[in-house]
Amino acid sequence: MPNQLGPEYVRAIAPYQAGKPISEVAREFGLDEAKIVKLASNENPLGMPESARRAMEAAVAEIGRYPDANGFALKEAISKRYNVPQDWITLGNGSNDILELAAHAFVQPGQSVVFSQYSFIVYALATQAVGGRGIAVPAQKYGHDLEAMLRAIKHDTKLVYIANPNNPTGTFLPPNEIEAFLQAVPKNVVVVIDEAYNEYLNPELQYESTDWVRQFPNLLVSRTFSKAYGLAGLRVGFGLAQAPITDLLNRIRQPFNVNSLAQAAAIAALNDSSFLQKSAKLNADGYRQLVQAFDELGLEYVQSFGNFVLVKVGDDDGAGARMNQALLKKGIIVRPVGGYGLPQWLRISIGLSEENAAFIAALKKVLA
Ligand SMILES: *Cc1c(COP(=O)(O)O)cnc(C)c1O
Repeated sequence: MPNQLGPEYVRAIAPYQAGKPISEVAREFGLDEAKIVKLASNENPLGMPESARRAMEAAVAEIGRYPDANGFALKEAISKRYNVPQDWITLGNGSNDILELAAHAFVQPGQSVVFSQYSFIVYALATQAVGGRGIAVPAQKYGHDLEAMLRAIKHDTKLVYIANPNNPTGTFLPPNEIEAFLQAVPKNVVVVIDEAYNEYLNPELQYESTDWVRQFPNLLVSRTFSKAYGLAGLRVGFGLAQAPITDLLNRIRQPFNVNSLAQAAAIAALNDSSFLQKSAKLNADGYRQLVQAFDELGLEYVQSFGNFVLVKVGDDDGAGARMNQALLKKGIIVRPVGGYGLPQWLRISIGLSEENAAFIAALKKVLA
């Protein structure tokens, strides 16, 4: 008999498909763990900053105690860095936590949430988890069509998720388009701008979303330490919004949602601008390395503003899964994106130069 426990909207959720861990691929394909290259989860190939390691080592001494539930020191560091008051900051167990808190705080069962086709799958999952109705608006050139998203907003729409840059497609929305959207969106609709890859943007593309937070009381910006800051395993991110939104999120978050090592490491990483610069430079070089190979091989890809590239590996709907399997056999883990409705594509996280080279070599062999 099927399990009928729990509401239908929870039973309907398809679980999040994470990138395969190295150990699992080693077991499954009988490979040496040390030779496996993982380019599947948009992690920083440099790993964590040394400054964060030292901060965690110091913080270990106090691990018997609960973390600071208010994250005072980390909020102080974020407040200085982004020039916002501390009561605008919500700390999250990864920015995923912030995205979910937004759905919990603003959406009741049956109400709708607008996001883009091919945008981060967590928006759909967070919506479903609260019994909300997701409205996926058709993408334009693999990116958000903000005008169509505006038109898609219904009377019962409570939340809009925007990813900039977007994952898994890597597309970027220019700030003037986002600002026009924020001006036009009904004031009773909360807009979340997910900026997980912001630190990878070229300086000339950087924009100040905190200015919008000042201007729009219905805006929540989310940021993470998982990507450019190199702390994915710690689970720490944050939201920036005016005090009334922050106050609501604070009421429903777990009291100790960010552990003490994560708080310590995040402060160190935030102040480590040289690590961030090094990461961005490595990423830009790796991007050129990958797209040059795709050009040589005549493979279509989407111009990316993040630390990954979406590449088309065939014309039939089995192409992505087949290529993924062939690469796994060669010890290369990338991300199939069939679950995003992109079965002909793969998402490749940008790695170290030698990791990118290993991927390119394997790709060439499989295609030959
Ligand atoms: C990786 C990612 C996140 C962040 O994940 P956390 O590790 O939970 O901070 C958020 N949004 C997008 C679009 C991402 O790709």
